[in-house]
Amino acid sequence: MKTRRQFLHNSLFGALAAGAGNWWPDAPSFFERPAKGALPVVIATWNNSRATAAAWKILSAGGRALDAVEAGARIPEADPEDTSVGYGGFPDRDGHVTLDACIMDEFGNAGSVSFLEHIMHPISVARRVMEKTPHVMLSGEGALQFALKEGFPKENLLTEKARRAWEEWKIKSEYKPVINIERHDTIGIVAVDARQRVAGACTTSGMAFKMHGRVGDSPIIGAGMFADNEAGVAAATGLGELVLKTLGSFLIVEEIRRGKHPQKAVETVIKRLAQKYPKDVAENQVGYVALDKKGRHGAYSLHPGFNYALYRQEQNIVFEAGSLFHK
Ligand code: ASP
Repeated sequence: MKTRRQFLHNSLFGALAAGAGNWWPDAPSFFERPAKGALPVVIATWNNSRATAAAWKILSAGGRALDAVEAGARIPEADPEDTSVGYGGFPDRDGHVTLDACIMDEFGNAGSVSFLEHIMHPISVARRVMEKTPHVMLSGEGALQFALKEGFPKENLLTEKARRAWEEWKIKSEYKPVINIERHDTIGIVAVDARQRVAGACTTSGMAFKMHGRVGDSPIIGAGMFADNEAGVAAATGLGELVLKTLGSFLIVEEIRRGKHPQKAVETVIKRLAQKYPKDVAENQVGYVALDKKGRHGAYSLHPGFNYALYRQEQNIVFEAGSLFHK
């Protein structure tokens, strides 16, 4: 006959093994300590080393990953030379600069804005959505009204450079939803802080000269970015339509949860994409960056040319990512 103690032990163990509370057995990082010097760490898609530097300032002072990724994402948002993010972003085919962004913290809270115009820092509006509303996502005019109410200034985000590029595009006005694989630099930025808190942010002006109203992967939780403090965090760049159809960032974090190293996790998801959409992947780029809770990282893309900035142990380095296809 079972004693009461045995019964409690068995049922507790059974519940845990069945995944109750979601921390056993899917979260090996819970038990394993990060290697010395592995934390804190931040990675951003593309050559966004000014963004990782802004994030590092916070992380190296013992700050929170959430604050770090927001600070990092704000750098390209305010940069008029960056034609894929925020101010200076290329407009849609009707001449509107429309922005998408999302953010997640270590508690699994999420906030996002899509199809937002006139606000230079959509990532900070996304954070306000997360922290000040009962919702996850605000879109278009409603997102703008919310931002204005929160005190964000209304600005013209269409720079002269972007306007000229749009005028040139209009001569042919070829509507091809194809992203030049060498020239898009949506920022996805992910971090684990010294206290093993994970967070991620993603912000973009989306595909250049897209249809008015088009929203990509970047503001969609699980597509453009996903963070789960039990496992890790991942973010995407590239053709949003492909990322959306596979919810790549979510999938990467789930692969990490099942015990995969982040590098293996990103490779698995890129391969899955190629298997499922063999025609679409031939001419389009998708790239991912990921971190697990221990600070191990991964980066991988469909085609060569994807790079990422990694800041750790006082070193801010831009690396070339591996790719599934070769030139
Ligand atoms: N993923 C972004 C989008 O489709 C574009 C990019 O990363 O360049 O909106």
